[in-house]
Amino acid sequence: MTGAGAATVRDSGQGRSGKRRRAFLALALGLVCALAAAAVFLFGTTSPPPVDPAWAIPASRAIPPGSITVRFTGTSTLLFSDGETAWMVDGWFSRFGARQLLRGEIAPDLEAIERGLERNGASRLAVVIPVHSHFDHAMDSPEVARRTGAVLLGSPSTANIARGVGLPESQIRLAVDREPVAFGRFEITLIETRHFEFPDPAVRKQALEDPEIESPLVPPVGAFDYRLGTPYAIHVRHPLGQFLVQGSAGYVPDGLEGFDADVVFLGIGGLGTQTADYRETYWAETVETTGAKRVIPIHWDSLMGPIEGPFTGEKRFATLLSGDGEQTLDFLKAKAAENPELRFTTLPRYDPVVLFPAR
Ligand SMILES: [Zn+2]
Repeated sequence: MTGAGAATVRDSGQGRSGKRRRAFLALALGLVCALAAAAVFLFGTTSPPPVDPAWAIPASRAIPPGSITVRFTGTSTLLFSDGETAWMVDGWFSRFGARQLLRGEIAPDLEAIERGLERNGASRLAVVIPVHSHFDHAMDSPEVARRTGAVLLGSPSTANIARGVGLPESQIRLAVDREPVAFGRFEITLIETRHFEFPDPAVRKQALEDPEIESPLVPPVGAFDYRLGTPYAIHVRHPLGQFLVQGSAGYVPDGLEGFDADVVFLGIGGLGTQTADYRETYWAETVETTGAKRVIPIHWDSLMGPIEGPFTGEKRFATLLSGDGEQTLDFLKAKAAENPELRFTTLPRYDPVVLFPAR
């Protein structure tokens, strides 16, 4: 009895500490799971892109010879061709993860560039034009020019990105504001515009202050070493039609006066972080001023997203940090509802779409 009693006392003591240990383990496990779930949530790419899936169009099945086609890689990389002359906006194919972008150093990914050009069917290009000198536009452009024999047309900062990777001076051409340049039957005019203003003062300072790249930029370098340079809107006249590429969601008041366009490629990155007034003015200064009948949103997929397969929205932590939630999509849907005569389309990845059919 006595022995059994002592055993019972001992057992219940052990039972209490065993229960405590199990409770502690359960709590620790719960905490680990919660942290893992938070990480999956924050670094997840499941937040949908800010465009209506109903706007997506497939690749053109038949391309009448002589038509102007467009191919979209993602962000604002676009390839235009009329069958005689092909040229590219940006030509950005490298992709980096969040850690590399924020802390590491980056350099053009040559394999990605080779694959990107191949997926676009781009072997010879007349010209490559980055909309500004940030890495997600201009970092690969000189290599694209080198591989396709193209001229690189842009700001002095873009020229210094090209010099940093040894593109010959004969392939570098400085843009002159509002001066049209002919490439085949495309008459291309670069118009100085503005980058959209990051609402966070620290990010704004880091990304937009001291905009010039003053000397040849030799990679690898930090992502923010690709300074802004001069941001451009690209206006294109062709016998088949006119269009405008506005890469970043910025504007100069009345800057596009006199530049009519049938189609606007509308950069919408970061538009949701701006005030409602800003969005309205941006819309008026681009879509309304040019009198466009068709809007093709660009720069809406994640910079950290994959370069193949379906486009993804921004990582959730980036969306939470920037405050760019549903506002962009709500705004565009409201514009689509207000302007039933306007056609909204989003392009497939890589495959050609007829922009203006041959007449
Ligand atoms: Zn930018």
